[in-house]
Amino acid sequence: MNAITKTNAIKTLTTHYIDGAFVDSHGREVMDIIKPTDGNVIGRVTLADEEDTRRAIAAAKRAFVTYGRSTKDERAAILRRLHEAASARVDDLTAAMVEEYGGVVQFAGPIVQSGVGAFLAAEKALQRMPWTRNWRNTTVTLEPVGVAGLITAWNANALFICLKLASAVAAGCTVIIKPSELSSLQTRVLVEALHEAKLPKGLLNVLTGRGEIVGAELVRNLDVNKISFTGSVAVGQGIMREGAATMKRVTLELGGKSPTILLDDADLDKAIPAALVMAFLNSGQACAAGTRLLVPRSRLEDVKQAILKTMRSFAVGDPADRQIAIGPMVSQKQYDRVQSYIRKGIEEGAEVLVGGEGRPQGLEAGFFVKPTVFVNVKNDMTIAREEIFGPVLSVISYDSEDEAISIANDSKYGLHAAVVGADIGRSRRVASNLRVGRVVINGMTDDPQAPWGGFKFSGVGREYGQYGIEAFLETRAILEA
Ligand code: NAD
Repeated sequence: MNAITKTNAIKTLTTHYIDGAFVDSHGREVMDIIKPTDGNVIGRVTLADEEDTRRAIAAAKRAFVTYGRSTKDERAAILRRLHEAASARVDDLTAAMVEEYGGVVQFAGPIVQSGVGAFLAAEKALQRMPWTRNWRNTTVTLEPVGVAGLITAWNANALFICLKLASAVAAGCTVIIKPSELSSLQTRVLVEALHEAKLPKGLLNVLTGRGEIVGAELVRNLDVNKISFTGSVAVGQGIMREGAATMKRVTLELGGKSPTILLDDADLDKAIPAALVMAFLNSGQACAAGTRLLVPRSRLEDVKQAILKTMRSFAVGDPADRQIAIGPMVSQKQYDRVQSYIRKGIEEGAEVLVGGEGRPQGLEAGFFVKPTVFVNVKNDMTIAREEIFGPVLSVISYDSEDEAISIANDSKYGLHAAVVGADIGRSRRVASNLRVGRVVINGMTDDPQAPWGGFKFSGVGREYGQYGIEAFLETRAILEA
């Protein structure tokens, strides 16, 4: 099972996890893993093909015959074992996330912890759910949907995998996981950890491969009943379209352009640091990043000064350094994408308050960008409408509370939002008018039982807690005459 072999510090992966074991890849394509801090090759991974995918689906289908009928107690015991197994490797998982995609340790640590915690959170939700209901001659039960394909993005690998796996296992489903190919090394550490949970064979299968090959096979295969996807809108739309042919159930966790509404009674010494943390979450590579900051026009000059002052503590550099708030972009492609949006913002007439085009001084080797804050942004500019997925914040002024709500809702996305203000009643009122799946008040916070997911183009369905488990269930009624 020695899955990662080191040759001259380059890690080579040639196997996938199918039917309870690491098996040689049938697919032959080899992909380099590039370290984002310096652009060097740190790994080579052999990618799965359709044949590997079909083998994994067959294993999951066989396992479902038994696991699909497991009891609540059996599933709870498995969730506890998964938690124990993943907990044993938290430091390794964090280190892999920092190395492979340059996630800052400030963010990678908590993200891995919440991934590991997802197993216990799912167990808690499982215990509370009404699995059977009876009235008169009718019995209604919650049944697992079947074999599930879990397709994930690269930006919080351990969290996405653990969260989806925990919900699916709680529901009684067996799974094939297709993580992003950009997360191959991190995935291997996690799968080695989960292997120690001694799951029933075929319950968990993990393939490293390309979306258009492995992902597409999962979406089109009749033996896969459900796809739970985290990623971009374009791929999510394709999954919905292609999945229709086999009547796939789908959960789609897609992008965002989240607003942070700063109310006029907010204390700027607290509000601006909180707003900037939300904007630059995971170096801006977070679906929930608060990338539109809505401020009362009357306080714009004070806000600008507070941003200039606070940005000094948002250092860019080595993601392994605990003092660093912003690491590199994951790839050259992502670097180029962020640069093109910064250029577009300048062309469309927004004013650069902090940052701008190019690399920060002294960080020429990797995919580092300058954290950038634009002011005088109009909500119809490209930088205010499109998800950039990098550390670029747009400051937009408003004249009234109603206008702030209307600007916040004037977006094709509806994933996340924040309200910052002194009067809690007023903040709650504003929050309740936002067309998004989740709103935080006065700073970033989380609750593993609260639903997560988007309105509008931000997706379909919810994850976390009972809501996440329900996404893997069907309802069956038995009626006696
Ligand atoms: P992506 O859509 O490019 O890829 C996501 C996954 O889909 C990868 O595993 C990829 O290999 C796979 N894929 C690609 N083509 C496919 C196909 N044709 N069929 C099936 N699978 C396919 O997204 P990404 O660049 O990895 O991640 C960034 C995006 O994810 C951003 O838009 C971000 O907002 C979103 N995201 C959303 C959430 C959320 O919870 N809502 C969380 C994190 C990231």
